[in-house]
Amino acid sequence: MADSGADFDVVVVGAGAAGVAACHRLVTHNVKTIAIEARDRLGGRAHTVPTVLGKPVDLGCEWLHSADINPWTGIAEELGFALDKHLPDWTSRIAIHHGDAANDDWNAARDALEEAYERAATLPEDMPADQLLPPGGRWNNLFDAISTWANGAELRYVSVKDRQRYDNTGVNWRALAGYGALISAFSAKLPVRFNTVVERIDHSGPAIRIVTNRGDITARAVIVTVSTNLLAEEAIRFAPALPRIVSAAAGLPCGVANKLFLGLAGAGPSETYLHLNGRTDSAQTGNYQIRPHGWPMISCYFGGHLSMRLEKEGPAAMAAFAIDEIAGIYGNEIRKRLNFLASSAWGIDPYARGSYSCALPGHADDRSILMEPVNDRLFIAGEACSIDQFGTAHAAYESAIIAADRAMAALAPARN
Ligand SMILES: Cc1cc2nc3c(=O)[nH]c(=O)nc-3n(C[C@H](O)[C@H](O)[C@H](O)COP(=O)(O)OP(=O)(O)OC[C@H]3O[C@@H](n4cnc5c(N)ncnc54)[C@H](O)[C@@H]3O)c2cc1C
Repeated sequence: MADSGADFDVVVVGAGAAGVAACHRLVTHNVKTIAIEARDRLGGRAHTVPTVLGKPVDLGCEWLHSADINPWTGIAEELGFALDKHLPDWTSRIAIHHGDAANDDWNAARDALEEAYERAATLPEDMPADQLLPPGGRWNNLFDAISTWANGAELRYVSVKDRQRYDNTGVNWRALAGYGALISAFSAKLPVRFNTVVERIDHSGPAIRIVTNRGDITARAVIVTVSTNLLAEEAIRFAPALPRIVSAAAGLPCGVANKLFLGLAGAGPSETYLHLNGRTDSAQTGNYQIRPHGWPMISCYFGGHLSMRLEKEGPAAMAAFAIDEIAGIYGNEIRKRLNFLASSAWGIDPYARGSYSCALPGHADDRSILMEPVNDRLFIAGEACSIDQFGTAHAAYESAIIAADRAMAALAPARN
């Protein structure tokens, strides 16, 4: 390390997907570094938990989206994590609910809306995604429900430009042992200080002072990876203040999406990998994945305002809501066969305050602002710091590599 008087060359704030990726990159290049993590565990919004069925479930990220170009795929293979390469069936749900004619109608409506989004994204002015729904359209509530799962927010909160910039290769795989477990295994030997909450980052002097609940640490550069909601709430205060960063983060709020896992006893429904809508005529509905990996469970997904309400009411309310919707699909007999396994509450989680970022209308370019280095020694990384892969664990990884490389380049003269 350079003889700078600072404790570390680089301090990384947070040990989620971005934090561990940055820390790994820096350690690999012999940079004196440490990740400071508020929780007592690795992974942040990547969190795999065991269940009484002996099967692990992901409370946060689960799908290796764009798995064919996703850096976590190679890491999974290197670490010997088995991958389930069965592609999700996110399109057949209308046929199952309403039959083939309705499915054709749905597909036509979806194609028309996609075309409208593509056209709108080329206009100079951004707009909220709900403005392009056909007035009185049969599927408008379902489009809104899907937005709550995909974006954590209803369409009226979603920037059309941001939505259209998102790119996905369509290859979505899963690690059987869990995405959270994968990220933790990758990070197992990294220098991480747990149970340490960063409260303030003073970058007014020659060394940056990171003030935590367990004392101060100094560094030549800092990479901050906490969620946009925490940045916008100024859960970490910067001195001097960084209004441009705080305002960009506020333009990219994390919506809320949550999961609930229910054990499914007995035989049937026999379909596996199927994703069903609780309803197709309301945005206040869940999405239900039947027997993921063939396991005897149903994975339930809630987003937006419904999810915020259910997480506040607690796991029992979430389970009751899901069981009502599942009984609406399969009949009341199934109720007694469902039992609670696990659930998440990311919106009220003090170290996340939401699930994944989504640009508000007019704020798609805030992603570029968030990625701007501050005085070449303070860098923001994390899932929101991506133009076209945002909201994902691999965006978090890639943003962290960029930040770590920038930090190393900035420190290079002093470190050589
Ligand atoms: C329900 C749900 C489903 C999802 N599904 C998928 C999916 O299928 N595929 C996918 O790719 N992505 C998915 N995601 C998104 C993915 O989980 C996130 O994009 C990614 O994990 C974010 O990583 P990050 O490092 O940017 O942030 P985080 O994981 O939030 O990491 C930030 C870290 O900073 C810590 N921290 C916060 N404040 C402080 C502080 N003051 N001091 C010290 N440490 C602090 C936090 O504890 C956390 O560990 C999902 C997320 C959720 C919630």
